[in-house]
Amino acid sequence: MTGMALSQDKSDVVVIGSGAGGGVIAKELGEAGLKVVVLEGGRRYQPYSDYPTHTTDFEVRAADVFLPEDARRDRYTTPRDKPFIYNRVKGVGGSTLAYHAMNPRFHESDFRVRSEDGVADDWPLSYADLEPYYTRVEYELGVSGPSGADANPFEPWRSQPYPTPAHKLNLASRMIKRGADKLGLHLVREPLAIPTTDWNGRPACINAGTCRLGCKISAKSSIDVTYIPKAERTKKVHILAKCMAREITIEADGKARSVIYFDPDGKEQEISARAIVVAGNAVETVRLLLLSKSRQFPDGLANSSGLVGKRFMEHLSLFAYGTFSDRLDPWRGVPTGGIIQDFYATNPKNGFVRGCTISVENENQWPLATANSIPGWGSEHKARMKEIFGHRVGLASDGEQLPDERNHVTLDPVVKDNHGLPVPLIVSTCFQNELAMIDTISARLKEILEAAGARAIQVENFIPGYSAHYLGTCRMGKDPRNSVVNPWCRTHDVPNLFIGDGSVFVTGAAVNPALTISALATRTADGIITLFKRGEL
Ligand SMILES: Cc1cc2nc3c(=O)[nH]c(=O)nc-3n(C[C@H](O)[C@H](O)[C@H](O)COP(=O)(O)OP(=O)(O)OC[C@H]3O[C@@H](n4cnc5c(N)ncnc54)[C@H](O)[C@@H]3O)c2cc1C
Ligand code: SF4
Repeated sequence: MTGMALSQDKSDVVVIGSGAGGGVIAKELGEAGLKVVVLEGGRRYQPYSDYPTHTTDFEVRAADVFLPEDARRDRYTTPRDKPFIYNRVKGVGGSTLAYHAMNPRFHESDFRVRSEDGVADDWPLSYADLEPYYTRVEYELGVSGPSGADANPFEPWRSQPYPTPAHKLNLASRMIKRGADKLGLHLVREPLAIPTTDWNGRPACINAGTCRLGCKISAKSSIDVTYIPKAERTKKVHILAKCMAREITIEADGKARSVIYFDPDGKEQEISARAIVVAGNAVETVRLLLLSKSRQFPDGLANSSGLVGKRFMEHLSLFAYGTFSDRLDPWRGVPTGGIIQDFYATNPKNGFVRGCTISVENENQWPLATANSIPGWGSEHKARMKEIFGHRVGLASDGEQLPDERNHVTLDPVVKDNHGLPVPLIVSTCFQNELAMIDTISARLKEILEAAGARAIQVENFIPGYSAHYLGTCRMGKDPRNSVVNPWCRTHDVPNLFIGDGSVFVTGAAVNPALTISALATRTADGIITLFKRGEL
């Protein structure tokens, strides 16, 4: 790289990505006194000034808020016969900027899928290993959740109560709960990283409902308003926004040496560190590792197992809608309004293993979104709008997709991004277990809506990628032959290289992953701190 200066000021750790994984690791390392530089490819957002969610035309004005200034930056490809919607945000805080903040824990059985169901693999760690880290993250974020008689009967044990009380069910969720009760199901409030009381200097949620377009008052505990400010307060952590890593270089002894990145002006820079953490998400982390080829690693960094990019997983997100005679205003309050986990565990009566979580989901019931969903014009459209707006309620699912090497992320041989780098090529397909599960989920969503008294029920087809939960492409394990990282998320091949995002998941469970990503990231940070203390990094 001619003309490129290597920063003389060596950091202890360079973290790539500042989302649910990277942002958490940076704060933990900074608080332990380590000097950290975070390279974040996206920009910074200022919630109060950047999110126009307070105006009547917010649906138009805020729609593009998280799109990149240069669309070529976020290009990706899929095979023509396997469409996939890649749904993520690049910015300081990562996809949590737009997330709905559903923060459930994995169940104990999720760490033992091979032992329980004879498919996939067990994790090399248990729920008990992760429980203290779940608690730490929940208390940083001020997660709200139910307790006592309202608690979720399927939830795993917890050492501490939720930091803040659960949100109340709105009218729409109460209607769905009536249906669930009739069917003997348990609809309970889901844990949300949206505190119901003031928390760590941020205000309680005011139920404005625009979480996906950004929370103007910073009540939603996205990583940019929780971990990042704490990280920066240590004065040890420096976030370099709009800086996109393109390669990790290696010393002759096989240790990671530096990261080459594009600065905000598009110029290449290089920064060295004693340890490097990649946390770009389960797609971008793969791209960076595969771009980092060298004599020692001709197939991509840390890829001696050949598994970097393999076993890509997401969740089976299906959506169903029903219309009610009563006006329920489902758009009031946080977008998600309760979960049902009665179908979570494997049921021998099903033609598939594992299960799903069903949630009340109403993020798109705003006026313009409703109008856009109704075809036609004029008085007919107006009449339909009257019938539907405020009357339609949505359900969604997170079904477990099993890991399969046929689902993978690799580099597109032709298409390049704005920096001239190959873009990710994503292949995601549903196999027999998923197809059977999708049929059953569709039937369950319909049944619940029917039991609640809905009419004009529509169950939408499964759209690959829509879940926005991407996992599994650098799986964790004890054996370097069939895993990329060890149980502390340290790569088997490169002793000072770590992976800090959902790539390391062995299986994907049937709940939203951000809390588990952050809990694992906290544990990974603890491991790195210990290695520094022992002088091993
Ligand atoms: C609309 C939406 C709703 C969601 N709702 C929920 C929910 O309710 N609950 C839940 O659990 N999950 C939800 N998710 C998913 C959740 O946000 C992600 O699973 C989680 O944020 C992933 O964490 P991560 O750290 O792996 O990646 P991210 O949070 O996506 O962060 C990765 C960051 O790395 C940066 N990056 C990538 N490559 C590079 C590079 N080469 N150089 C520099 N920077 C780089 C990216 O710009 C990005 O900012 C949602 C996602 C979306 C998009
Ligand atoms: S519902 Fe609460 S968390 Fe979501 S945008 Fe409104 S105030 Fe923020």
